[in-house]
Amino acid sequence: MEPLFTSEQLAEIHAYHQPHYVRAAVDPLVQLGLAVLLMAVLVRPVYRGACATAAALERRFGLLRTAPVSRAFFSAMDRLWGEPGWGAAILFALFIDLATQLLYAPANVWFYYVLEHRYGMSNFTPVTFAWVWFKGTLVAALALTALVVGMYGLARRVRRWWLVLGVPVALLMLVAAAVDPYRARLYYDQTPLPEGPLRERITALMRKADISFSDVVVEKTSVTSKRVQAYFAGQGPTRTIVLNDVIVKELSEDEVLAAVAHEAGHVHEARWPGRIASSLALVALLFFIDQLLRLAARRGWWGVQRVGDIRTLPLVSFLVFLLMNLGAPVAGALSREREREADRYGLRLTGDREAFRRMLVKAARVNKMDPEPPRWLVLKGMSHPPIGERLATLDTP
Ligand SMILES: [Zn+2]
Repeated sequence: MEPLFTSEQLAEIHAYHQPHYVRAAVDPLVQLGLAVLLMAVLVRPVYRGACATAAALERRFGLLRTAPVSRAFFSAMDRLWGEPGWGAAILFALFIDLATQLLYAPANVWFYYVLEHRYGMSNFTPVTFAWVWFKGTLVAALALTALVVGMYGLARRVRRWWLVLGVPVALLMLVAAAVDPYRARLYYDQTPLPEGPLRERITALMRKADISFSDVVVEKTSVTSKRVQAYFAGQGPTRTIVLNDVIVKELSEDEVLAAVAHEAGHVHEARWPGRIASSLALVALLFFIDQLLRLAARRGWWGVQRVGDIRTLPLVSFLVFLLMNLGAPVAGALSREREREADRYGLRLTGDREAFRRMLVKAARVNKMDPEPPRWLVLKGMSHPPIGERLATLDTP
C-alpha cells in the first residue's frame, strides 16, 4: 500500500499543525489566568464602568422609557429583571466578552486567517473573514444578552429558578436537533444536489439503510475553506444530507457514497441516553450555579448582596470552563468510539472497502490531517480517531 503522504507532505502537515498543538497546550492555562485576573482584579472596576455607562445612556435616551412604543420594551425588561438596572448587567457581560474577544483577536486572526492561507487551506478574503467574524460575534453577544436576562433575571425573582429554567431548556435540548438543518444556512448557501447518478445512488443507499430524509443539499463552503465535509443535519422528517461543494468536486461517486455511509452510521446511534444525560447534567449545573450565587451573596464577594448579581458572571463562567475541560476527555473518548462504530457500519453498508479507504485517504490529503497527532491531544478530547488509526482498522478484518 502506498504511504498516505510523502515525507515532504508529512513535514508540511507537521509544520501546519505544530502551532495548533502549542495553542492546545497553552490555552487552558491562558484561560485560567484570565479567569483569575478577572475575578481577583477586574470585576469591581468593570462593574463601575458598566454602571456609569448605563447611567449615561439613561440620561441621553431616558425619554425612550416614556415614548409610546419603546415604553413597552422597557417595562417588559424591568419586569424580567425585577427592577431597573438590567442595562448595567448587560453592559457588564458585554464589556467582559468584548475585552476577551479583543485579547484573543490577534491569535485568532493568525490561526484562522494567516496560518490557513500559508498552507493553502483557506479561501477567505479579508472582507469575508471579517464578515463571518462579525456575524459570529453578533450571535454570541445576543446569546450572552439572552443568558444574562434569562438566567440572572430569573435567579433574582424566583427561588427555584434553576428548575424553572432548567426543565424547559432541557426539554428544548431534546428537540433542538430538529432545528439543525436551518442553523448552517446562517453561514453558507445550500442548493439541492442536482438529479443524476450521485443523487440516485445516495437515495438507494439510504433506502438500503432504512433511513428517511428530506433532501440532499450541496453547501457552498468553498467560499471560505478548501476542506471536504459531509454531514447529516436534523432528524426524521427534517433530516438533510449535506455534502459540501468541495467533496462533490474532489471525490468520486463511490467515495462520496462511502462518506455518506459513514454518516448514516451516526443515525443509528442510541442518541437518547446521551441526550437525557446532558439534559440532567444541565439541570444539575444550574442547581450548582444557584448554590454558588447564594454563597456569593452570603459572603458578599465583589460587593454582591443578593442572589442573581451580575458580578458573579466571571465565577459562573469559570465553573463552566472547569467542567468543560474536565469533561472533554470523557466526551472525546465516547465520540471516538461512535466514530469507529460509524466506520464499521458504513463499511458494512456499502461493502466497498477500497472506496472507503480512498475516501479516508483523500479526506486526509485534502484536509491535511495529521495521521498521528500527539497522544495527549487525542486524550484531551479529540472527536475523531486519528486518520492513521482509522485506515489501519480498515485492514484488520
Ligand atoms: Zn463521523
